[in-house]
Amino acid sequence: MQQEKIDAIKSEIAATDAQNADELEAYRMKYISKKSVVGELFAEMRNIPNEEKKAYGQLINEVKVLAEEKFQELIDKVNNSQKQSKSQDIDLTLPPTNVGVGGIHPLTATRQRIIEIFERIGFNLSEGPEIEDDWHNFTALNFPENHPAREMQDTFFIEKNPDIALRTHTSSVQVRVMENQKPPIRTLSPGRVYRNEAISARAHCIFHQVEGLYVDENVGFADLKNTLYHFAKEMFGKETKVRFRPSYFPFTEPSAEIDISCQLCGGSGCNVCKGTGWVEIGGSGMVDPNVLENCGIDSKKYTGFAFGMGIERIAMLKYQIKDLRLFTENDVRFLKQFRPML
Ligand SMILES: [Zn+2]
Repeated sequence: MQQEKIDAIKSEIAATDAQNADELEAYRMKYISKKSVVGELFAEMRNIPNEEKKAYGQLINEVKVLAEEKFQELIDKVNNSQKQSKSQDIDLTLPPTNVGVGGIHPLTATRQRIIEIFERIGFNLSEGPEIEDDWHNFTALNFPENHPAREMQDTFFIEKNPDIALRTHTSSVQVRVMENQKPPIRTLSPGRVYRNEAISARAHCIFHQVEGLYVDENVGFADLKNTLYHFAKEMFGKETKVRFRPSYFPFTEPSAEIDISCQLCGGSGCNVCKGTGWVEIGGSGMVDPNVLENCGIDSKKYTGFAFGMGIERIAMLKYQIKDLRLFTENDVRFLKQFRPML
């Protein structure tokens, strides 16, 4: 009698199917929970004569195991069919959700703009190593050993005697170009440079420079001025004024700082230009004949001019950015602001 009942429950369980969570729950109530038919079989135990208890116990345990295995099977089945139906819900004809397109970093964009301006007037691009020897970073550029001019640039040395350092300027690239090419040379060398400076709103230990070099017969200061006038007007707008202030660099003679009229106040004086109406954008000068000779160029025959600018400086002036550190913090809120301008 019990055997028949148990067999009937077993075949019922085997035949049960479930398509969704509700049917799973119905199965659980019917065959797994305490009040299920299987639960009742266990409750029946107390009415079974002692000598049959062992055999009965084995039978109902089999039912219990069967019910639980079936339950797991049904759970897996329902889960899988849900996954499938989700993947079938994807409509490939719908327009895509906005995934957020990135932008070009303002320094990269500024560098690119500078390159474009000079490329159009015949400058090519040259690159050099960021780890430099003493010759290319200092000596060939007319920085004599133990000369105080070396103190102008706080250097990260990697090795001493012979000195190997992170380049302090991209002028080292000009030396490499002059050593390997014959004039006429018209080249632009943008790149990363390193100086041991405390990081602040106006200074950083890593920054970017772009330097230009023009060496040929009869290159004069007027060529230098005209080239930089052209650059300033292209970069900052036609109204921009340029002035040159006498200065000193070991590698140029004569040397001049390049100022442009303040972009913020237009020359009338403000905080950015400290009331002068002018802001400095870089240094320049006629290549010192010693430098030409150091690089194997006949200084009797050839002359040249060179200039250098900080790319951060140009970007700060162009976009009126007040803190240099923002360029390297990679704050998306900062970077996003340049997307429409670039
Ligand atoms: Zn101003």
